Amino acid sequence: MSPDTAHSPTSVDVLVVGGGAAGLSAATLLARSCRDVVVLDSGSPRNAPADGVHAFLGHDGVPPTELLARGRAELESYGGRVVPGAARGARRTEDRVVVRDGTGTEWAARHVVLASGAVDRLPDVPGLHRHWGRTVVHCPYCHGWEVRDSRVVVLATTPMALHQTSLFGNLTDRLTVLAHDPALLDGAARDRLERLGVEVVDGPATGVVECDGVLSGIETARGVVQADAVAVQSFVEPQSALLEDLGLEPVDVEAGGTVVARQVPADPTGRTDVPRVWVAGNVAQAMTQVVAAAAAGTMTGAVVNADLVAEDEEARLARPA
Ligand SMILES: Cc1cc2nc3c(=O)[nH]c(=O)nc-3n(C[C@H](O)[C@H](O)[C@H](O)COP(=O)(O)OP(=O)(O)OC[C@H]3O[C@@H](n4cnc5c(N)ncnc54)[C@H](O)[C@@H]3O)c2cc1C
Repeated sequence: MSPDTAHSPTSVDVLVVGGGAAGLSAATLLARSCRDVVVLDSGSPRNAPADGVHAFLGHDGVPPTELLARGRAELESYGGRVVPGAARGARRTEDRVVVRDGTGTEWAARHVVLASGAVDRLPDVPGLHRHWGRTVVHCPYCHGWEVRDSRVVVLATTPMALHQTSLFGNLTDRLTVLAHDPALLDGAARDRLERLGVEVVDGPATGVVECDGVLSGIETARGVVQADAVAVQSFVEPQSALLEDLGLEPVDVEAGGTVVARQVPADPTGRTDVPRVWVAGNVAQAMTQVVAAAAAGTMTGAVVNADLVAEDEEARLARPA
């Protein structure tokens, strides 16, 4: 079924915004509960640049796009629908949330699950984006095995760099910390790193050096620091298309006294303070991996279905006998 006109919203039980691990998991749970569920998806999962998904039991190394293609097929086998496109705006009525997509089509849903993921803001050093997710990495659990024993440069732009250095130091002895802002590392930190066998170089970093398109180092005013991989602290923020329209305000996530991310507050099931609006995956838990995003989506789908069941029962009981 597709909507008739932009002026007559199509009714669905649940509209899921975002078809990543969280959104597809929520939608599949709902479709298996015989709910009319549509996933509106713009098709750019956060891990798209990576070759494979790691740390997901039973799916190790599967390319991110393939994992999601499998998820879409599973959803569609239960009657759920995936509509390609981006949600652009939303408004609430008394008993519906109406979402507008890029074509002007409106979807009137009894409940909406925002599973639109997050974006990674990288340090402002030319060339990092070109290698992001392959040899410019952020997570020792997603990429650490792939860069083990190689020359890893931690580009220190926040205090979290020291934590990251420890985790990558577990994977390689060939570790350098490049202090993009030299003031980030005080004497004690430098002394500790030196005693751990980690080389420290002062920045700022001015660009990525490549050889035949492959990252081979990071440039500073004093010369090039050779590298096979660069670890960065990306700042993770929710994709924000509908948040403001629906009155959702992301909050800071702190680690070690540093704000490392922002995420939308919700209870453990994804229920927000806004009636009929739910969040799942990285939009609500910025630091979690694919398996946790899938788990969150499954939980949210189940609780949304339970709310729908309760609403349906009340409606039946309110009808005259
Ligand atoms: C480079 C990199 C590598 C990673 N590697 C791993 C790994 O190996 N293992 C692991 O477990 N985790 C890994 N992660 C983390 C992983 O990407 C996230 O945990 C996971 O993607 C979160 O799933 P999600 O469903 O919340 O969001 P996403 O997977 O980001 O999916 C969100 C979806 O919503 C869509 N969307 C956004 N806005 C809209 C809109 N307005 N309308 C419609 N659709 C919209 C997006 O296009 C996307 O398809 C990696 C992250 C990065 C950055």
